Amino acid sequence: MHDVSNEFDGEPLAKAAAHLRSAQRVVVFTGAGISAESGIPTFRDAGGLWTTFPPDQFGHMGGLMQVALNEPRRLVEFLFAVLQPIAAAEPNSGHLAIASLETHVPATVITQNIDGLHQDAGSRTVHEIHGSLLEIVDRHGKHTRHLSRDDLRTLAESLQRARGRHLPLPRAMLALRKLFGIDLRGMHRPNIVLFGESLAEPAWSRAVDAASECDVMLLVGTSAEVFPAAMIPEYAASAGATVITVDPFPALGSIRLQGTATKILPLLIDTAFDSA
Ligand code: NAD
Repeated sequence: MHDVSNEFDGEPLAKAAAHLRSAQRVVVFTGAGISAESGIPTFRDAGGLWTTFPPDQFGHMGGLMQVALNEPRRLVEFLFAVLQPIAAAEPNSGHLAIASLETHVPATVITQNIDGLHQDAGSRTVHEIHGSLLEIVDRHGKHTRHLSRDDLRTLAESLQRARGRHLPLPRAMLALRKLFGIDLRGMHRPNIVLFGESLAEPAWSRAVDAASECDVMLLVGTSAEVFPAAMIPEYAASAGATVITVDPFPALGSIRLQGTATKILPLLIDTAFDSA
């Protein structure tokens, strides 16, 4: 049995708030939906990235190499479509509400997102299981450099200039050399997990531990279709946690709050703690 609410339907919201209020340890597990209202498109929703750039071509390194050879201009468009919205984004009221949870209860964020917006919102413990576009690693996966949001904005502007010009791919590679390429120290790339690659460590192990030890899990904006990330709510539920879902189309969870992150999360956290 599960409770489903529409946006401001009081009963499941009150129930979810009561669980949060009495929780000892909360984990918030987020997907692309939490950042949709910051202007970063999800992958699977209508108009999402995968509708224009199918994952069998653009989701893994082999496919990207093929596109680079056969359709270089399209690869440049894909890189721009990924980079530009993340470079321009700011945390929304959903990210901020999640960060504010930490003032009431020990809270950990596990995210599938690569956009760094939870940290920008002030969340202190964030396990990025698919890595981060703002972190650069060498070919052994060792961290070499952190980029700021301003760095990303500068890169997106350079890429924008390269897009419309003759030989856009070599120009794009030059524009993005801080993100990936080869220099005197060897190869470097953003620390993001493509299909077929191992999840980021130690983030994944820490995420599994946190999920197995929480008593409430808030699931926000994820279709839970990407494995093994989709196991995270399973770990929580099988350890006895209450799983509360916030999503316009909630498909999982014992309490389902139907609506967008920016509408539901501030309301949920106010209801849980302002009346405490
Ligand atoms: P998904 O695209 O499969 O699903 C998005 C989910 O968000 C859906 O359930 C949708 O109903 C919900 N949603 C849409 N708008 C919302 C809103 N305003 N508020 C709350 N929920 C909303 O996303 P996924 O499950 O995270 O899987 C996609 C994979 O792609 C992830 O693993 C992630 O690594 C990556 N990704 C990351 C970003 C990012 O970093 N911001 C963006 C797109 C994709």
